Amino acid sequence: MTTKRDYYEVLSVDRDAADDQLKSSYRKLALNYHPDKNPGNKEAEDKFKEASEAYEVLRDSQKRKIYDQFGHKGLEGSGFSGFSGFEDIFSSFGSIFEDILGFSTGRRSRSQTQRGADLRYDLTLDFMQAAFGTETQIDLQKMEVCPSCKGNSCEPGTYQETCSLCSGTGQVSRNQGFFTVRTTCPHCHGNGQSIPHPCKGCKGNGQVMVNKKVSVKIPAGVDSGSRLRLTGEGEGGAYGGPPGDLYVFINVEPHEFFQRDNTDIHCQTEISFIQAALGARISVPTLNSKKTLEIPKGTQPGDLFLFRNNGIPSLRTGRRGDQIIQILIKTPTNISKKQASLLREFDKIENSKLSSKLKNILKGGSAKRG
Ligand SMILES: [Zn+2]
Ligand SMILES: [Zn+2]
Repeated sequence: MTTKRDYYEVLSVDRDAADDQLKSSYRKLALNYHPDKNPGNKEAEDKFKEASEAYEVLRDSQKRKIYDQFGHKGLEGSGFSGFSGFEDIFSSFGSIFEDILGFSTGRRSRSQTQRGADLRYDLTLDFMQAAFGTETQIDLQKMEVCPSCKGNSCEPGTYQETCSLCSGTGQVSRNQGFFTVRTTCPHCHGNGQSIPHPCKGCKGNGQVMVNKKVSVKIPAGVDSGSRLRLTGEGEGGAYGGPPGDLYVFINVEPHEFFQRDNTDIHCQTEISFIQAALGARISVPTLNSKKTLEIPKGTQPGDLFLFRNNGIPSLRTGRRGDQIIQILIKTPTNISKKQASLLREFDKIENSKLSSKLKNILKGGSAKRG
């Protein structure tokens, strides 16, 4: 493969060009063909890569020596094979690249990128939504990377420049008596770059406040205190950094009939003392609709019955807990004369056998229950 152009020709410099000549020639080409200025332009991309490769070789005295003697072939033999893509170029040049071009490329070295902040959102669900899962939209106000400048804070077509006050070091020195005090540069606030034309879209912040609707899938079985993480839905990162995450904190509203205990649900249902004594079939609400419960005769207040697998699905296994039904027994009020006389009759027959508790109820005594 000898389709590669001569590196000196690429940079339009003489074979004995000095370092600063190489640098200024490359700077001119790089500014001209920079991918940020020529999005989607394949020819500019190739030229940019070609110039970067030529400069990468010629600025390095050892590589330049090999190239001068053996040409492209010699470099291939020494392990240098050009750049595969932009990432390669930017990672190879690192800060030197910014130094040469005098502006941030928007592809800063990784150490300078900043991950976006994590966000917290408190979401209240009703009991059934938590039990069976749901999909809901939440409205978020958050900072995102400015769509106009892509976060580099410069008006499109303009670039950051090395801060003139601190020459890009981010610090300034001041003599104070015998001492030299170094402080953060007041002009660039320490980042070494200044922005001559701040982006109008974000006033140079690189980020803008946006209102965003985020769709959240709530899995069945969440409970108060559950926390969902939505990767990448936090605030936008700075200087090309990744966005933060969104944490949704779940709060579940109580239900008027069911109380939750992990995956089990508890409820109470009232029956009459006649039903308790004689047995009955009653209808009990369940999470899905309702079910018939067989009450055996002689059921006592507080007795517990179970609907297996009618509770809430486990977040981890999906297996449902149980529904536990506690029986309350209602004492009749406003009974008629006839009912009263029947009960007295009943009392007479059963008196000796009845529990002291039921005796109390029959006398309209103190065992009142809501
Ligand atoms: Zn902007
Ligand atoms: Zn400065």
